[in-house]
Amino acid sequence: VVAAARAGLDRVAVPAQNAAEARLVPGVHVVGLSSLRGLLARLRGAEDPDPVEDSVRGEAAGHAGSAPVAAEKDLADVVGQATARWALELAAAGGHHLFLLGPPGAGKTMLAERLPGLLPDLDDEEALEVTAVHSVAGTLRPGQPLVRRPPYQAPHHSATMPAVVGGGSGLPRPGAASVAHRGVLFLDEAPEFAPRVLDALREPLESAEIVLMRAGGTARYPARFRLVLAANPCPCGLAYGKGDECTCASMAKRRYLARLSGPLLDRIDLHLWLDPITDGRLIRECGAAESTAVVAERVRVAQERAAHRYAGTGWRCNAEPPGADLRRRWAAPVDAVALLESSLSRGTVSMRGADRVLRVAWTIADLAGRASPGKEEVDMALHLRRRGGVAA
Ligand SMILES: [Zn+2]
Repeated sequence: VVAAARAGLDRVAVPAQNAAEARLVPGVHVVGLSSLRGLLARLRGAEDPDPVEDSVRGEAAGHAGSAPVAAEKDLADVVGQATARWALELAAAGGHHLFLLGPPGAGKTMLAERLPGLLPDLDDEEALEVTAVHSVAGTLRPGQPLVRRPPYQAPHHSATMPAVVGGGSGLPRPGAASVAHRGVLFLDEAPEFAPRVLDALREPLESAEIVLMRAGGTARYPARFRLVLAANPCPCGLAYGKGDECTCASMAKRRYLARLSGPLLDRIDLHLWLDPITDGRLIRECGAAESTAVVAERVRVAQERAAHRYAGTGWRCNAEPPGADLRRRWAAPVDAVALLESSLSRGTVSMRGADRVLRVAWTIADLAGRASPGKEEVDMALHLRRRGGVAA
């Protein structure tokens, strides 16, 4: 229906059950039908022999229909992990990707689950776009047609290629990566995913869409998500210092993490090493934890600053402009650029990595209310990329 409206059509007929959803598209008159016989009769100007019952007509749901917000988990529940909380805030504000490395119990899943709550509601255009993907994927809840909250998808590491990136027989269907469009895709125990599934994620990380070619036809689905990868530092997954200590050889640990390919990790902006929470830190840091509402407000303000800067370009947040445009059109101060260049020449970041560092530096500046990132912001962004020696 979105495509029909764009092509200039102003009347469409759809199955009655989809009418409420179809009416979300502005500027189109939607006729809900229960049979092809009914369509034929209407085209002939006759009475519909199979009139649609009011219960499935779905008119009431229409534009007012906004999916009920699932109770989102609050950031105030996460004790400690100040740097990780900050990284989460940056990921929310700038649309950046996050890699969380740490032993079980460090709170990786807790953090990832709280990322969608930091994001503002989807605007009308985004909501329609996300709703269209969910409609094709069959994940739309009946009677509550419009998706207003950024989605959260957390496929299990045994998930297949079609389940994660899309596919299947016949016309390919969107996978979790597209269902997470404008939201969060969380891969827990990322090294356990099939290597080809992880590799396939490089395409949407670059182009924010997934193109699926099958005998049944080609489908192009949007896939602009914030990726959160989480990994234990070793295959045994035992925590440190709790009696049942990990005895994995350092070689086994290296091999385990090497399953996350360099090209994939190079596309992740923020790399964090999480320490397990110890009792001392719990006591010291509890009570200081900010709530989701407080952080989400800072995220909203930072996103507005970025959207204002990118007005008229079609880009909205710092993750979106290509590196070359970002460098040319919104130049950072000379000393900030010099710091980045010296990291490049020392080989501590790749060219792609340098662009990502610059984007994160912009987000740090946006959150701090600064006009542009300086040397300090670039330094912080570099640090977040190298933390714990995770980055390739
Ligand atoms: Zn181990």
